[in-house]
Amino acid sequence: MDYFSIEKEGKLKCLLCSYYCQLKPNQIGICGVNKNIENKIECLVYGHISAFNIDPIEKKPLYHFLPSSKSLSLGTVGCNFHCSFCQNYGISQEKNIDTTNYISAKDVATIAYQRGCESISYTYNEPTIFYPFAKDIALEAKKFGIKSVFVSNGFESSEVIEDMVGVIDAINVDLKSFNESYYKKSLGGNLKQILENLIKLKKNGIWLEITTLIVPTKNDSKEELMQIIKFIKENLGVDTPWHISAFHPDYKELDLPRTSFDTLKMAYDMAKDEGLQYVYIGNVVFDNSTFCPTCKSKLINRDNFLVNYNKIKNGCCPNCGTKIVGIFED
Ligand code: SF4
Repeated sequence: MDYFSIEKEGKLKCLLCSYYCQLKPNQIGICGVNKNIENKIECLVYGHISAFNIDPIEKKPLYHFLPSSKSLSLGTVGCNFHCSFCQNYGISQEKNIDTTNYISAKDVATIAYQRGCESISYTYNEPTIFYPFAKDIALEAKKFGIKSVFVSNGFESSEVIEDMVGVIDAINVDLKSFNESYYKKSLGGNLKQILENLIKLKKNGIWLEITTLIVPTKNDSKEELMQIIKFIKENLGVDTPWHISAFHPDYKELDLPRTSFDTLKMAYDMAKDEGLQYVYIGNVVFDNSTFCPTCKSKLINRDNFLVNYNKIKNGCCPNCGTKIVGIFED
């Protein structure tokens, strides 16, 4: 795909995220990393990685995607959102791009292969804003049979979502709130677009899990949590995994308390009562095992990010044969 279109008066429209910034010559978009240079939009962070780790896939978090495998995880600088509680703000809100370090897409894929990773995760900052680089890595990785994962705020452009089919295998989207004005004022993007994108991602067959960081006083009311749960249930299906995650004070939100376990458990119980089948609690100690939704057998036993055992066979519960959604190896 072309990552921009030509508009009037020398402007170019960036097609990477739903802001669709219209950039004059030499202008940089909201994300701080895509720039109109000589009649094309250049992704300034292409090849310039800010963080590089090998993580368990459970840390993304993805619990129904190649459990217990290793994922080479990387990010650049920049973000199209400006969340006041960002836990990676040192990367996401950084404007200086260190161009002294360069790594090619092929080299990233080769390292992932040499280190025994079954996937590459584009994470730490919003991957949509460096999609040209992520896609090139993903295509190189496919040659080794390595899959690709987005950890995203869900504000991709519809063009990118279409293009992700066959390129990006799984995505964890942070559904940060169900409040339109909170998104607009304090986070970025807009709720309506993100909800539409979640539905599109699911329809396009990209494996989808959702995370909600519960921030005290910001998105922790029963009403709002129920709206999130109902949206998942009615639009994405009760078998869509939902990760409820605990906030800790960070960046500009140093005066807020940590999320209490009672609030996390309340959200968990509400989701289970509404019929969501796979609900997990992150950033605190909790039994995040996966159970068969039919016979209740414990199928994947987890201890934090460690998988002690995985009994799923051919994508099914070995006890009653129920299909367990996700991407599993036999
Ligand atoms: S990625 Fe989004 S924020 Fe950045 S320039 Fe493109 S449209 Fe604007």
